[in-house]
Amino acid sequence: MNPTARKAVLLHAPLINWTNGSLERQMGLIQKIKNNPQDYQNLWAGHHYWQRKMTPDEKRMRSHPNRSARWIPHRIEAKRKIMRWEALSLFADKIHTEETFGPNQPCLRCELDYELQSQALAEFNDLINQNAYPAYRDETKDISWSDYEEINKARQNYKKSLESFVRQLESKYPPEVTATLDTDNSPGTTQAWVTRPFGFCITCYQQVKQEAQNLINLITNG
Ligand SMILES: [Zn+2]
Repeated sequence: MNPTARKAVLLHAPLINWTNGSLERQMGLIQKIKNNPQDYQNLWAGHHYWQRKMTPDEKRMRSHPNRSARWIPHRIEAKRKIMRWEALSLFADKIHTEETFGPNQPCLRCELDYELQSQALAEFNDLINQNAYPAYRDETKDISWSDYEEINKARQNYKKSLESFVRQLESKYPPEVTATLDTDNSPGTTQAWVTRPFGFCITCYQQVKQEAQNLINLITNG
């Protein structure tokens, strides 16, 4: 990095809440982001961007009947996972190395209890399976799937039911627990278990991710 660029980054630094990492690590990551801005801009999105990095052999492998069109080879996913971890780890005192593993432990940032969260999720899913989903099926049974307006109305009602379940559970669980219940899932799909991406509850994961994303945006747009 040339001295002017380094100075510009440091001038911006107070905007970022650095919580972890030596200056060397921070500067190292900044340099990596500058060298591969597009990779970092597409760390959490940009499925097609990563698919374009596939070799001709990998593209042929994707057409295998057991693979979906969204398949991305492990080689690319593994690289992306390490890049995510590196970006997130600058903003977290503690971070798990596994992205998808769901360890039965408190959130590394807010210490949200795993058991309590699992219990709330199980109750939420019971309410969905016993009430909201049967009601949705009933409401849509005579609707043609091409009738978007009616389907959309039924989906809105379904979401409203889920929101009312969350309010119902608020009397029993602390707000940080009910905040993790997702009312945006499509009818018929529920979250089966509590996840801890990189060791964080979903609320903290979104926060840490946003902090990392802010740094990436700052560097790639500046
Ligand atoms: Zn948390």
